[in-house]
Amino acid sequence: MKQRLLFLGPPGAGKGTQAQRLAAREGLLHLSTGDLLRAEVQAGTPLGQEAEAVMASGELVSDALVLAIVRSRLEHHAGGWLLDGFPRNLPQAEALESLLTSLQQRIEQVILLELDDSVLIQRLLARGRADDNAEVIANRLQVYRQQTAPLIAHYESQGLLRRLDGAGSIDAIEERLASMLVD
Ligand code: AMP
Repeated sequence: MKQRLLFLGPPGAGKGTQAQRLAAREGLLHLSTGDLLRAEVQAGTPLGQEAEAVMASGELVSDALVLAIVRSRLEHHAGGWLLDGFPRNLPQAEALESLLTSLQQRIEQVILLELDDSVLIQRLLARGRADDNAEVIANRLQVYRQQTAPLIAHYESQGLLRRLDGAGSIDAIEERLASMLVD
């Protein structure tokens, strides 16, 4: 089973749900930059205060801020990991690659969760997080298309990308995912 994975895909595609399940089953570190940022906001730290308004608008917080979070978590972790919601743009992907080189690690596979916009929007509206209202959702989808989607070609050219249909039940998707990760 592959041990070092990225989850890529639009908001609402199910990255967090699948990443959490897989990490629990395989004993991997689940690193969700969105969850970590929300925890900082909740705790009212300086970092959280800096990120809060940006997150509420659906834009991306600064690369430096997110990178510091990821670096501090990966530096002292020898085992496998699953990155969810990071990288979100090409500069973050490049920074991740140099961080991993310095740690003598590498990405083993990138899973792209795919789902139609209409289903994504329905799912996000049903979830009801603070940034899950119609206007902010539209912006997050646009940010995804403009800044994050170029990573698809980036990882495809490295031969790392696998596409996973995000439609259907959580269990069905989990099963399809597991079958992709067998060595
Ligand atoms: P998520 O939970 O992944 O949907 O992230 C929620 C929000 O956190 C995003 O809309 C961004 O504002 C911020 N965020 C999460 N991950 C990143 C990242 N890698 N780079 C920049 N901003 C991020």
